[in-house]
Amino acid sequence: MPTQEVELDGVVRAMARMFDAYERVFAAGRIGRSVSRPRPVRRTGFDLQLRVVARDAVADDVVALTFAGRGGEQLPSWHPGAHLDVFLPSGRLRQYSLCGDPADRATYRVAVRRIADGSGSREIHDELAVGSVLRVRGPRNAFRLVDAPSYLFVAGGIGITPILPMVRMASARGVPWRLVYLGRSTATMPFLDELAACPGGDVVVHADDGDGFADVAAILGELHALPPVPDLYVCGPPALMDTARQLMRALDPRTPVFSERFSALPVVGGEPFTVELARSGRTVDVAADESALAAIRRVLPDVRYSCQQGFCRTCTCRVLDGEVDHRDRHALPDAERADSMLICVSRAAAGERLVLDL
Ligand SMILES: Cc1cc2nc3c(=O)[nH]c(=O)nc-3n(C[C@H](O)[C@H](O)[C@H](O)COP(=O)(O)OP(=O)(O)OC[C@H]3O[C@@H](n4cnc5c(N)ncnc54)[C@H](O)[C@@H]3O)c2cc1C
Repeated sequence: MPTQEVELDGVVRAMARMFDAYERVFAAGRIGRSVSRPRPVRRTGFDLQLRVVARDAVADDVVALTFAGRGGEQLPSWHPGAHLDVFLPSGRLRQYSLCGDPADRATYRVAVRRIADGSGSREIHDELAVGSVLRVRGPRNAFRLVDAPSYLFVAGGIGITPILPMVRMASARGVPWRLVYLGRSTATMPFLDELAACPGGDVVVHADDGDGFADVAAILGELHALPPVPDLYVCGPPALMDTARQLMRALDPRTPVFSERFSALPVVGGEPFTVELARSGRTVDVAADESALAAIRRVLPDVRYSCQQGFCRTCTCRVLDGEVDHRDRHALPDAERADSMLICVSRAAAGERLVLDL
């Protein structure tokens, strides 16, 4: 063998030995796991394949699904307020709050209300069964329970899902708490039994069919007057969250208020503009008070979207022409802002025309 080839052969063998050693000691060993975090990293969420291991009707039109790892592996930890991104068999992506026990590392539980004209929730109710396997990303948390001297929780309908584990945690830690839980009727309100079993606080249940339409201002005003001044956590229909927020601002502007929306953000300060869908050449007029997504869905009902609040990036769309008024809170990376937009929140200036790769 010529000298050069012998030398090269030696170098290759030495490198192979180095890779072997690296593989044994570092990548496959404990050292690697402790100093190098697995990918995808926690910050962007985990992608998991989970199996539905239980399906329970927990109220009228509300089904709870329990997921477990396909090999029974331990699942990533989570904190009350967290949600999962759930990829449905159709390809739709929807968010669902974790409403099980964070100490249970073997399963996750979510509860889904069937929306009459909904697509994703209907798919979950009609098509998912014990044994179904789904891709799930997360858990992610934009509604984290922080330490406080006491808590006032307000939940409307299915908004109870992130609140339930918060109540359990406050209860377990011996922190005083109160929950105002509003719904159309007790039959539509999940987890009343689990809440009743949480010591150390009280639950004010208000069902419209028995108690009449709730006077949220009166209920919250009365509860807030009780010491110590609590942190307020609210999740439910937008009108309930707005009322609670305004009320707290009036009662005591220093009260920390945390909320999570399950549905689209209202458009504030919007102007009408036009979108051209480049693939079909169709144009869509976007009214001042609607999102580009809502307008586009009229002609493209299957366009991809999820959170409708500018954080999940599912609806990222390439912009072929026109100037974008970016309204996401930097969920879209800087490198993509020049030629992409999140159509659920971002818009164009008044009278402008955006050409989208749709
Ligand atoms: C962080 C986060 C956590 C969430 N957690 C839960 C949860 O724990 N349980 C749960 O059931 N949902 C939860 N959602 C809402 C969920 O992701 C879906 O939006 C919901 O299931 C409706 O999806 P859909 O495809 O059936 O409706 P779409 O087809 O997207 O919408 C159909 C119509 O229903 C309206 N709509 C959407 N959501 C609601 C609603 N909640 N009430 C009334 N009208 C609505 C829409 O505006 C639209 O007009 C959460 C959303 C977010 C962003």
